[in-house]
Amino acid sequence: MKRIVVIGAGFAGLWSALAAARKFDELGQRADQAEVVIINPQPWHSVRVRNYEHPLEPTLVPLDSVLGPTGVRLVQAKATSIDSTNRSVMTDGDGAVEYDRLILAVGSELVRPHIAGLEQYAFDVDTYGGACTLQAHLQTLPALPDPPGRYTAVVVGAGLTGVELAAELPSRMREIVDEADRDKVRVVIADRSGKIAQSMGGAQPVIEDALNTLAVELRPGMSLESMDAQGVVLTNGAKKERIDACTVVWCGGMRASALAAQLPVTLDPAGRVPVDSFLRVEGVPDVFAAGDCARILIDGVRPSVMSCQHGRPMGRYAGNNAACDLYAKEMLPLEIDWYTTICDLGPWGAVYTEGWDRHLVSQGETAKATKRTINGERIYPPKEGTREALFAAAAPVVQAPPPTVRADGQ
Ligand SMILES: Cc1cc2nc3c(=O)[nH]c(=O)nc-3n(C[C@H](O)[C@H](O)[C@H](O)COP(=O)(O)OP(=O)(O)OC[C@H]3O[C@@H](n4cnc5c(N)ncnc54)[C@H](O)[C@@H]3O)c2cc1C
Repeated sequence: MKRIVVIGAGFAGLWSALAAARKFDELGQRADQAEVVIINPQPWHSVRVRNYEHPLEPTLVPLDSVLGPTGVRLVQAKATSIDSTNRSVMTDGDGAVEYDRLILAVGSELVRPHIAGLEQYAFDVDTYGGACTLQAHLQTLPALPDPPGRYTAVVVGAGLTGVELAAELPSRMREIVDEADRDKVRVVIADRSGKIAQSMGGAQPVIEDALNTLAVELRPGMSLESMDAQGVVLTNGAKKERIDACTVVWCGGMRASALAAQLPVTLDPAGRVPVDSFLRVEGVPDVFAAGDCARILIDGVRPSVMSCQHGRPMGRYAGNNAACDLYAKEMLPLEIDWYTTICDLGPWGAVYTEGWDRHLVSQGETAKATKRTINGERIYPPKEGTREALFAAAAPVVQAPPPTVRADGQ
C-alpha cells in the first residue's frame, strides 16, 4: 500500500489531499493500493480568512463532507514531529504514521512578541477558536459594571487582518450594546508603520477614508508598549497614549507553524521551508510543502505571500505532484502570473487591487460584491460535494483572477 500523508487541513492541506486522491484515481490506483491520509487536530476545515466576520458557523466545513466522497482518511490529531529519514510522522493521537510522500501544510500562526500583558489580555482572530472567544467577550460587555473603556476596542496591527476587523467592529459592537449606549462605541486601530494599511499601495488612501467614514480612530506610527486588563499604552518613542479599553485585539502578523522547523532546511525569515516550482522541499527527499509554511517563487521571481490566494493552488499542485512522483509520472511546475488583493471594509464596502504594487481597480460596493463571492463561494469546496465535483475542483490548474467591475467599466 502506497501512502501520501498530508499534515494540516487548511487551504493548502485540504486541496493537497483532494488533488492527490484525484491523481490516484486518474492513475487507476484502487483504495487497497494507495491511500491519502490527512492529519488535522479538528474535524473541520476552517475558512480562516473569514475569522473577522460574524456569525462564524458558516466558516467551518466538516471534513467528513469532503474526505468521505473522495476516500481520504482523516487522522484527527496534531503532528508532533517528523522523521524525514525514516519517513514517519509522530502524532499526539494515533502514534506514528508512515509515508511514501509527505506534504507539509501546517499553515501559520499569529506572531506573539513579548509585550507586557499581550499573552494574558489580547484577543485575536487568528483561529476559529480565537474569533469565537472574541465574539463571546463582546457579548458580555453590556453586563459589565460600566468600567472605563467598556465599549472601546483597540485593534493593534493595521495589515489586512487588522483593517478588516477594525472596519467590521463598529457596526458589530453597536448591534450588541444597549440602544442608549450605542454612541459610546469607540474603535481605534494602531500600527507602528507611518500609515494605516501602509502596504496597500494605491488603495491605502481609500482605506484611510473608509475607516474615517466608519468613525474608526487611526493611530499610525504608534506601537503597543504594554497592556493590562483595563487597556493599552501606545508609544512612538517620544510620546505615550493610554487608552482605556475592555477589548484589545492583536493582529501583529503571521509566522509559519513551528512544525516547519522540524525539516533539515534553512527557513526563511517568516519560518517557511523553501520549495521548488514542483513544491518539493529543497534537499529533503519525498517531502513536499504548500501554503503559509512554504516559500515558492510564485511567478518565478517573487516569493509567495502567506494567503489563501497562493495556498490553494500550491496545495493542488503539491498533491498532484506528490502522487505523480510516487508513480514516476511527470510533475507540473506552478507559476502564477497575477496577484490581487481584496480588503473588506465592513459596511463601507471593500477595495480591490491588482499587481504587486497594488494599484486600485475597484472600491466600495463593487469590490465588496467580489469579496462576497470570494469569501462565500470561490474558496469553498463545491457545494454539490460529489466525488466528481471535488476532483474537478482539485485539478492542478491556476484559476483566473476573481472578476470585478473595474473603475473604467471593463
Ligand atoms: C482574519 C484573517 C483574514 C485573512 N484574510 C485573508 C485574505 O483576505 N486573503 C488571503 O489570501 N489570505 C487571508 N488570510 C491569510 C490566510 O488565512 C492564510 O494565508 C491561509 O489560511 C493559509 O492556508 P494554509 O492552509 O497554509 O494554513 P491554515 O489555513 O492556517 O491551515 C493550517 C492547518 O494546519 C493545521 N495544523 C497546524 N499545525 C498542525 C500540526 N502540528 N499537526 C496537524 N495539523 C496542524 C491547522 O489546524 C489548520 O487546519 C487571512 C488570515 C486571517 C487570520
